[in-house]
Amino acid sequence: MVKEILIAAGLGVLAYLGWSGVDIWPVVILLVLLGAVVAVGWHQHWLPRPGRKVEGATQGITFDDIGGQATAKNELKEALEFLLKADQTERLGIRPLKGILLTGPPGTGKTLLAKAAANYTGSAFLSASGSEFVEMYAGVGAQRVRQLFADARRLARREGRGSAIIFIDEIEVMAGKRGQHQSHLEYDQTLNQLLVEMDGMNVHDDVRVLVMAASNRADLLDQALLRPGRFDRVVRVDLPDWAGRLQILQLHTRNKPLASDVDLAAIARETFGFSGAHLESLCNEAAILAFREGRNQITMADLKSAVDKVMLGEKLDRQVHKEERERVAVHESGHAVIAEHLQPGSVASVTIIPRGMALGFVRPAPEPDRWLRTVSELRAEIAVLLAGSTAERILLGQPSTGAANDFEKAFDIARQMVLAGLSPLGVVQEEALSPETLYQAVRDIVAAERERVDRLVESYRAAIQALSQRLLAEETVSGDVVRALLHQVA
Ligand code: ATP
Repeated sequence: MVKEILIAAGLGVLAYLGWSGVDIWPVVILLVLLGAVVAVGWHQHWLPRPGRKVEGATQGITFDDIGGQATAKNELKEALEFLLKADQTERLGIRPLKGILLTGPPGTGKTLLAKAAANYTGSAFLSASGSEFVEMYAGVGAQRVRQLFADARRLARREGRGSAIIFIDEIEVMAGKRGQHQSHLEYDQTLNQLLVEMDGMNVHDDVRVLVMAASNRADLLDQALLRPGRFDRVVRVDLPDWAGRLQILQLHTRNKPLASDVDLAAIARETFGFSGAHLESLCNEAAILAFREGRNQITMADLKSAVDKVMLGEKLDRQVHKEERERVAVHESGHAVIAEHLQPGSVASVTIIPRGMALGFVRPAPEPDRWLRTVSELRAEIAVLLAGSTAERILLGQPSTGAANDFEKAFDIARQMVLAGLSPLGVVQEEALSPETLYQAVRDIVAAERERVDRLVESYRAAIQALSQRLLAEETVSGDVVRALLHQVA
């Protein structure tokens, strides 16, 4: 307030002097220059500096707050023994562990593991993202790396700790293979500085620093980083299996009131391929659904609806044109009926309520986690993907653009088959295959399935018609109804 009054008074005096004929321009120019200097200083002071924003922010996370990931947790704990028993390891002359690299898909808990590691070892925690070190100006990235290590040591001393963990997320952004970037000099300097800092770490330092880095693309990293003495340990953090998903669901519902019909094990079965972050979002979305409907407990229906939402996106209120709705109903009925024929019991429900990018959706019945697929299963998957468009063509006279995504997936599966040696080409080496040969083999697989689906859709025409009528009336139809229709009409 006082500042504002003084500024107003100053401006008033200046205006008065100017009005009385005094030449005030030198003063005005001086003030503008002063203002610019202050603004630049202010801006620089607040420039995001790696680590500034999350000092000490482990939020008390421990290994018990991380679901699944038993192998990663064990490997990590084992590695952290070096930090916990530093004196012993020093006596034995063991080189201190300097870096641990966590690799794996997004949202699997890499950041959580780094925070838990800091709590487990009683270390100060500082985090930064690889992209914060990427600057247009040469030398700035390297300067920031130096700063980060200095900050970590300072923070540990201030908190009275003997060690600090620096967590660098998306490390591939700053530590990609050298010499490959356009502005490579700057990238290379930043990476070199990181290597220099890591090489400089010493057993006798008053603060022991451990660098933990995370990457979704470890294949992009410069090999120098993975050399012994730098990131000695690489810990794989994978998508959780069924038991892991159940644990994560239990963790994220511990503070939420669940209705008695909730079966988290069933939800874990339905969410194959979900990461920890997906599961956290699922629990949150289910709670939001209950809240929107004014209930104070989360039901199984909320959780199931949240699975769809996380998988496909928000339900849309989009007005779908009548003809388009009919087309979607036929398309989804084609998928559902052929899926039930080829893999009985595989449909949980079918809907023509648009969600996210999808105009309709066949929800598959949950099955145990599968990591392997046989040739006939893969062929059946391709056939089911093609069935939507085939149903449109046979029942409505022509197909539409609605199947582009299905075709893409079908071609992906066929490609996997060729590369896994499951095509007439036999066992192949990808690099030795010409793109034309690969494409021809992929096309042959898809074409064979297309012929099969044509015949199947013709023979199930009545069932597909009946299911699409039912979908137009009810919007969502359960798998049991699909199965009943198949037997009645076929
Ligand atoms: P990214 O690679 O995208 O940075 P990340 O692997 O570092 O992802 P986190 O940031 O650790 O993932 O996880 C994001 C959120 O997902 C967490 O805050 C947590 O709510 C949830 N989550 C992820 N994995 C787990 C897990 N294993 N147990 C419990 N919650 C998890």
